[in-house]
Amino acid sequence: MKRFGISLPKEMADAIDKISRETGATRSEIVAAALQEYLEARRSHAEPEHQCLGVVMAVTDTFSEIGDVIEDNKTHIVAYTHLHVEGRCLTIAVVKGSSDQIEKLTLEVSKRSKLSRYVPLL
Ligand SMILES: [Zn+2]
Ligand SMILES: [Zn+2]
Repeated sequence: MKRFGISLPKEMADAIDKISRETGATRSEIVAAALQEYLEARRSHAEPEHQCLGVVMAVTDTFSEIGDVIEDNKTHIVAYTHLHVEGRCLTIAVVKGSSDQIEKLTLEVSKRSKLSRYVPLL
């Protein structure tokens, strides 16, 4: 085991504490479980370098939160649509490019959205 301090947004820390109370798992166990999923997704998606074709879904409060990412990544976005569900914005984009570029794009999207998922189509 290795210990290190990390900084999390308050909302995220509160959510972890809530799960901890509900399940009896420690904060470390919860963070490790979430990280395990991320590392597995990244391993299968980013290594080795390959061409990616997939769908990015993102939930935001407004389109402007994600609009510039779409604009900056125009060359990797095959098509996208923007819908409103329960008062929130849902952006669905078909993306294509090197795994490097798509990894950057999906990270950028996840930073700006309440919820985001990348689903590989290849
Ligand atoms: Zn990929
Ligand atoms: Zn919208």
